[in-house]
Amino acid sequence: MRLAVILLLLVFASCGSKDRGPIVRQSTVMETFVNIAVYDNAIPPERINTVIDSVFWEMSRIEGIMTDYSDTSQVGRINTTAGRDTIPVCDELAYLIGRSLEYSLKSDGRFDISIGPLVKGWDFLSSDPRVPTPIQIRTMRRLVDYRKVNIKGNRIWLASRAMRIDLGAIAKGFAVDRSLAILARNGISRALVDLGGNLGVVWDGKRPFESDIVEILIRHPRKPGKFFGSFRMGGGGVSTSGDYQRYFVHDGIRYHHILDPTTGYPAKDVVSVTIIADDATTADALSTMVFVLGKKKGMDYILSHDGVEGMIVWEEDGQLRYELSPGLINRFVRSND
Ligand code: AMP
Ligand code: MG
Repeated sequence: MRLAVILLLLVFASCGSKDRGPIVRQSTVMETFVNIAVYDNAIPPERINTVIDSVFWEMSRIEGIMTDYSDTSQVGRINTTAGRDTIPVCDELAYLIGRSLEYSLKSDGRFDISIGPLVKGWDFLSSDPRVPTPIQIRTMRRLVDYRKVNIKGNRIWLASRAMRIDLGAIAKGFAVDRSLAILARNGISRALVDLGGNLGVVWDGKRPFESDIVEILIRHPRKPGKFFGSFRMGGGGVSTSGDYQRYFVHDGIRYHHILDPTTGYPAKDVVSVTIIADDATTADALSTMVFVLGKKKGMDYILSHDGVEGMIVWEEDGQLRYELSPGLINRFVRSND
């Protein structure tokens, strides 16, 4: 059996002739697409479809808790009562905020979910995004400080009024992991979930490099519709953070959505980062974090963490260059683009 997965766009090559092929469903959650494919011939299709329905529900449920686009979600209430109130949150949100703060500590604040004011200020989702003025940037940047996100058990409070949290760098990966858990709980042992380019694979309990069953095709960061390369893996999480996913160009400069809290501007050093880990939450958080850390510190982080592999792509003299972590070196195949 040969499968191919394109990050940010899922396609499947044919399965063996005895197979009925995967059951593939698509939807939109968390402002992005979701593709689910289940490859389990032993389970009747109606049953698989019911399980996939509950996965879509689960993703919407998580979105309902974690979105910062609503004032009534749990994250919305933390934000609207910033500097005034402590908000009780569910275990999942307390867990994810706790993990996010750990990544902030590990990256000396380059990964920071209190990035909200800067994300709103840059407004990459607007139809007419603009570069904020230096004074605006300075004002917003001062509001970003993970040390002022307080967590005690299940209670969260932000220390000052204009602070805002934004889980955009980690919540999709978390939703993918929860989805894989639902599939597993229902006896599905072979499936792929792709939520906006955050991919989770379960395959007979395999870890990422224990099998070659799934082929991951990485989009070319500069050539839409082309691939930069591919590699093969078993189960686990894969995530790519790129400067081509949400961006605008002004006066010939590309401004994208992954922001460096130390400058208030888009992180400059690299073009894209792909992370492979045992789970999708880790892959999602780390692809963003390594992106902001940049080539050198980012690769040092990958190299010093067992179970994490990755690729960093950057631009030099108008050419794309890339570096792979050791576990990927013999697996990655560069495309002829
Ligand atoms: P991703 O596509 O997973 O790399 O996440 C990018 C999203 O994370 C952005 O659209 C923002 O919502 C948020 N974000 C941007 N910069 C940061 C940062 N330095 N730390 C944490 N979250 C960030
Ligand atoms: Mg991320």
